[in-house]
Amino acid sequence: MSEQHTIHVGGAWRAAASGATRDILDPADATTLAVVAEGGAEDTDAAIAAARTAFDEGPWPRTPVAERAALLRRVADLLQRDREEIGLLESRDAGKTLEEGRVDVDCVTDAFRYFADLVMNESGGRVVDAGSPDIHSVVVHEPVGVCALITPWNYPLLQASWKIAPALAAGNTFVIKPSEITPLTTVALMRLLAEAGLPAGAGNLVTGAGDPVGARMSEHPDVDLVSFTGGLLSGTKVMRAAADTVKKVALELGGKNPNVVFADACATDEGFDTAVDQALNAAFIHSGQVCSAGSRLIIEESLRERFVAELARRAEKIRIGRGTDKGVECGPLVSAQQLARTEEYVSSALAEGAVLRAGGERPDGPGYFYRPTVLDRCHRGMRVVREEVFGPVLTVETFRTEDEAVALANDTEYGLAGGVWSADAGRARRVAGRLRHGTVWINDFHPYLPQAEWGGFGKSGIGRELGPAGLAEYRETKHVYQNLAPRPVRWFAG
Ligand code: NAD
Repeated sequence: MSEQHTIHVGGAWRAAASGATRDILDPADATTLAVVAEGGAEDTDAAIAAARTAFDEGPWPRTPVAERAALLRRVADLLQRDREEIGLLESRDAGKTLEEGRVDVDCVTDAFRYFADLVMNESGGRVVDAGSPDIHSVVVHEPVGVCALITPWNYPLLQASWKIAPALAAGNTFVIKPSEITPLTTVALMRLLAEAGLPAGAGNLVTGAGDPVGARMSEHPDVDLVSFTGGLLSGTKVMRAAADTVKKVALELGGKNPNVVFADACATDEGFDTAVDQALNAAFIHSGQVCSAGSRLIIEESLRERFVAELARRAEKIRIGRGTDKGVECGPLVSAQQLARTEEYVSSALAEGAVLRAGGERPDGPGYFYRPTVLDRCHRGMRVVREEVFGPVLTVETFRTEDEAVALANDTEYGLAGGVWSADAGRARRVAGRLRHGTVWINDFHPYLPQAEWGGFGKSGIGRELGPAGLAEYRETKHVYQNLAPRPVRWFAG
């Protein structure tokens, strides 16, 4: 396979029908890392047709569940075999550290294993009591059909696995479109799916831009479901495009996630150190390009000065550089556009009265780097507090009462995730119960479990990934009602 043959249709690798290609850039120095096919509408239609045929004619939807689970486990094993290679590729393509790249491969492996186990441990249909021994009534779950899977650039492989693994476990066929900025590990994953024995046409891949490829997938009449992870603006376009054909739509969108710290969490030196450390982790891991980044620090007023001073001191010490270099803790932003966006948000915050405590600039040299930035004295009137920056920018707001903390944390149009720090377990649980966010961490930030649903309230999305609900997204529910002793009903006299 030449490196420009990155479109996978009906089991074969090919170049774009138009012959167009796209350079994939290394965000650490803006040099070309790879050249991929730039798919268009024609390639997308071909991929959807292949997935349609593979669904309608099989064999994948009718493959016994034990064989489907076995294939997912083979993919997991192959991911572990190629862990170093794929982790390195993810690190270079998305700009994350090598260790983060490796951890991503492990998380992807877990997702494939989890969905294999989940379908194997199911009991099948549910018998319903219809009130008569002559009626056998059962509720069963079937695959939805052809799934269009659209993924973002921040966790390319991870987001792909949260969709591909449950889609295949449930017996669907799919077409995936990775972000045009970071397609390389999705191409690698498709190779592993083929090596593991996925039948031709059951999994298809089109590399290319959101419009036309993603837009075509969202509107195409032969697609039954579209599962999208990305920004709010693109998500609303996907939903509109899917409306005419009444597809099932799942959206995992952005977040503006609060990290609420009560003073009692920092009453001891150890508690203080932990809360500061985790606030840094919440905001700056992967340079803040995380949908669940704890980018809003909401801190009890009495603790503000001490906490922010220490946070800023440690933020200044974060070592930024190429993700594959030894000792680097934060890589570059993914693109020139993302860097410009971050710079613009920081300028607007400073113009609106925020106080710069750390960072606020890009270092000298090539690449899309930006220093971890702490903005103090922020408030809800500022764009930087309301909108998702998706860069290494942490804003600080303060509260005096528990009610005030909850009100601030819920004052967002998003609702993806949030953290609460308190030494008072009762208070922590009470506040967690009042937060309108899909995931709430108490005295922690960022961990997720494949067994636990992931998704958002409000404009953070529709539906859930992971957990049993993450599998249910890829299924239709059917009620089969069998009359074992049919007789005329005589509703009509004649
Ligand atoms: P994006 O919306 O720009 O792109 C996401 C994907 O959608 C890409 O593949 C893109 O090509 C495609 N796309 C763009 N326009 C489209 C259209 N009109 N129709 C169909 N597809 C289209 O997002 P991004 O910048 O790649 O990713 C960052 C965003 O993703 C952030 O908002 C982040 O919060 C979100 N995200 C959310 C989660 C979550 O689990 N909720 C996880 C990761 C990222």
